[in-house]
Amino acid sequence: MMLDIISTAIKPSELSSVLKLKLSLSLCRKRAYKSSLNSLAEDLSDREFCLAALTKVSRSFAVVIQQLPNELQDAVCVFYLILRGLDSVEDDMNLSIEKKLNLLRNFHSKSMEPGWSLTEIGDSVEYRQLLANFQKVVAAYLRLKPSYRNIIKNITYQMGQGMADFAEKKIQTTADYNLYCHYVAGLVGIGLSQIFSASGYESSFLEQQKIIANSMGLFLQKTNIIRDYFEDIELERTFWPPQIWAKYAEKLETHKLYPESPESIACLNHMIADALQHVPDCVAYLKMIQHPKIFRFCAIPQVMAMATLNKIYNNPDVFRTKVKIRTGLAARLMVETNSMERFNSFMEKFTYKLISKLSAEDPNYLITKKRLHRIIEAIDATRVSHSIAPDGNDNIEERVLF
Ligand code: MG
Repeated sequence: MMLDIISTAIKPSELSSVLKLKLSLSLCRKRAYKSSLNSLAEDLSDREFCLAALTKVSRSFAVVIQQLPNELQDAVCVFYLILRGLDSVEDDMNLSIEKKLNLLRNFHSKSMEPGWSLTEIGDSVEYRQLLANFQKVVAAYLRLKPSYRNIIKNITYQMGQGMADFAEKKIQTTADYNLYCHYVAGLVGIGLSQIFSASGYESSFLEQQKIIANSMGLFLQKTNIIRDYFEDIELERTFWPPQIWAKYAEKLETHKLYPESPESIACLNHMIADALQHVPDCVAYLKMIQHPKIFRFCAIPQVMAMATLNKIYNNPDVFRTKVKIRTGLAARLMVETNSMERFNSFMEKFTYKLISKLSAEDPNYLITKKRLHRIIEAIDATRVSHSIAPDGNDNIEERVLF
């Protein structure tokens, strides 16, 4: 996403961020990794293979992970790749249900056996080659500190069981939707918090914050699920809960045929209102983060998600294509989200933009308005407690200078 910069219209105010980001990307990327993962597996050490695999399977995550302190980069990279392997099993629609369930339920122990790999599984070349060379990821995992290994294994176990449960039943209610998002994303937020606490960079208080750590994952996951309507419908899958969309159409596919209809837009906006309920928790979570690099790692995806929701609210293009925020805006958010103040000001800006788009005609007008005002209140609450922090433990100056 970040490298198609030249072809994208860029606002003058965003140009310096684009250039800064390009420079930091080229400094961070020691090697262009043009070869396939199969040939890289032969040439690279286990650790280098993991970093290369990360750039292949998720360029945006590969960029964000570079924000972390070095020691955490390895643990978080391996954590991500193991969960990516698990997700590739979940997403492979050619696997028999028996084989899929068996793999999902046992991935936590299989993927930790030296030399273990999986062939012929995965719905893209990168995912297939990642799993075919998984022994490299396993080896990198086995070199992590025991505390990190335990966290990764436990989260992989829980996620695998949840994915297996949902492989056999569909999302129907909003409770199902929240539970599924907990398994595939909330657990990532919980596991990352445990890793941050185990590293000593964050206090042990953070790992106890499971509800708001879960919300961090849910907000990102729900934003992706809403934005990816078109892509998912084309692949004949969907994660939108019938409890919401059935209020607006008999079939979810109908919105693709009538993207501009009031029902389609109301359905989209209902899904967005649902996602917005998690934002106050995300603000509270970020307020707890002490280390400026961990702050950036956690805050950048959140602010990008809020920018995405602002872009897709009331936007019929969601039913026709994959809507993305401008590359220049994404670059600016990545470069400038350095402090709680900056995070707050971006979030406030997108929240007020959303408030300005509300229409009393929308069936969810009141609840959406209430949730947006709660976000403003949550942001204001962090400012009040910052200004009266008496003990000097708040790293706010450090964050500003970072
Ligand atoms: Mg999946």
